[in-house]
Amino acid sequence: MWEISTETVVAAAHQLRLAPGEGERLHGHNWRIKATVRANELDSRGFVMDFNELGPMLRALVEPYEHAFLNEIAPFDDVNPTAENLARVVFENLSAKLEARVSVVSVEVWENDACAARFSR
Ligand SMILES: [Zn+2]
Repeated sequence: MWEISTETVVAAAHQLRLAPGEGERLHGHNWRIKATVRANELDSRGFVMDFNELGPMLRALVEPYEHAFLNEIAPFDDVNPTAENLARVVFENLSAKLEARVSVVSVEVWENDACAARFSR
């Protein structure tokens, strides 16, 4: 099988809800979001899928987060906007957009150069 990856960066703020009545201070990250997809067969061009298709698709999914406060955007108005949950939401939204031949392997969300969360099934 083949896997390809692409990534994009989004500047967004969040404020984690911790114990009841206790939360983090509002702060931002330049979130680096990397998606990996796979296919068992290549298309007629020899692609898992065109990077020029996958890149804009990932970008469109995360564009609503650009310069936004994640806590105000569904589902993060309800679900804690952790890197873990952001990775899951992007994974699910990207999965819904792909043709049947291609599936999402993982989505990684990096808060900084040292800390990342990765979601896969
Ligand atoms: Zn943070």
